[in-house]
Amino acid sequence: MKVPRFLVALAIVLLGAWASLTGSWPWKRMMVAPPIVVGNAWAESADTLRRGETVSELLARQGIVGLNLQEIAARSNFDPRRMRSGLVFNFRRPRLDSLPSAFSVRTGDAQRLQFERADSGWTTQVQPIMWYPEVVQVGGPIDNSLYVALDNGVDDRLLGRGERERLAWDLADVYAWSVDFTRDIRAGDRFQVLIERLVSEEGEVRFGRILASDLTVNGKSLTAYRFETADGKASFYDADGQSLKRAFLRAPLQFRRISSSFNRSRRHPVLGFARRHEGTDYAADYGTPVLAAGDGVVIKAGYSGGYGNLVEVRHANGITTRYGHLSAILARSGARVEQGQVIGRVGATGLATGSHLHYEFRVNGVARDARRLDLGNGQPVAAADRPAFDTERSRLTALLYPTPVSPLAQLGD
Ligand SMILES: [Zn+2]
Repeated sequence: MKVPRFLVALAIVLLGAWASLTGSWPWKRMMVAPPIVVGNAWAESADTLRRGETVSELLARQGIVGLNLQEIAARSNFDPRRMRSGLVFNFRRPRLDSLPSAFSVRTGDAQRLQFERADSGWTTQVQPIMWYPEVVQVGGPIDNSLYVALDNGVDDRLLGRGERERLAWDLADVYAWSVDFTRDIRAGDRFQVLIERLVSEEGEVRFGRILASDLTVNGKSLTAYRFETADGKASFYDADGQSLKRAFLRAPLQFRRISSSFNRSRRHPVLGFARRHEGTDYAADYGTPVLAAGDGVVIKAGYSGGYGNLVEVRHANGITTRYGHLSAILARSGARVEQGQVIGRVGATGLATGSHLHYEFRVNGVARDARRLDLGNGQPVAAADRPAFDTERSRLTALLYPTPVSPLAQLGD
């Protein structure tokens, strides 16, 4: 039997359009899908696997029972117990037939199981779901948090809430060496990002990756370009072709959970008298992961007086870093740690009133203000990669700062 392909295509487009309009994933939020009717000879409908229901029960509701059901169960290797509630099954049946001639179900982000009834019986087939990348530019003002700025500044139809969150994390990662998001962001700052957005053939939207960005912090424009070197490694470089990576992170914790309250008082909150403060305090939610600021070896991991639970790391060039008041220590003394590795969790052990991280940066034993340290320049793009980098930077720059087409240019000659 011949299935009009355009009808199937139309149904997919309609489903996709509906999903993108409502911004929802059909099998996630939609508990009961409405029937979608296309044409006269065929009827299309959707049914949702209910909580506690088996696939057999759903199929029976759609008229697939007895031998048909047995055949489908035998032909397919899907485990009905692994089917989670909320999955949407799409059925197609001839108008005057109660038995569907085909049905399909999404079993993953990138695949669909398709069942078809032929004269010889039911066949099953795994169909790939294609995702297409699109390049999109987004931007907006930052008031006090990058996360809130992206959440407000990016349209729901462009990226869903969870995807905007992923974008915020990734953008913070791009600038982890140059911006301390807990302290550097001010009202009047701006973000401009060029991203890859993935759209599935069924209309779902995902955040892909950051291609380029321009973060204006305190009137200073910090650009970042994603570039893949000849050996296949991708990282971010500034406009001059210098890597954004440095030996030390600007802040040893993830920015998003940071509370805005920051106590600048010189009076020690617990001791009650003025005491030299040899580090930076980051007010943060209890349990926030604390990251090693740079590669090194753990030289202390345990309770240490006023510091409470303390991790101390020794780095190259006589530098050590200390992380105090931890609620949990996630590194052992003597262990090698890499930059960005989680070594503990924020707490309030030792002399601390509220949960915060006490971070110290010492050079040859002398405490330095980590925030004012010049962390130097990053590694430049290798000479052999330079021409490719220049080309890529020009391409991304044009997309990051789109200029309106002038009417004269459109007229041509
Ligand atoms: Zn402190």
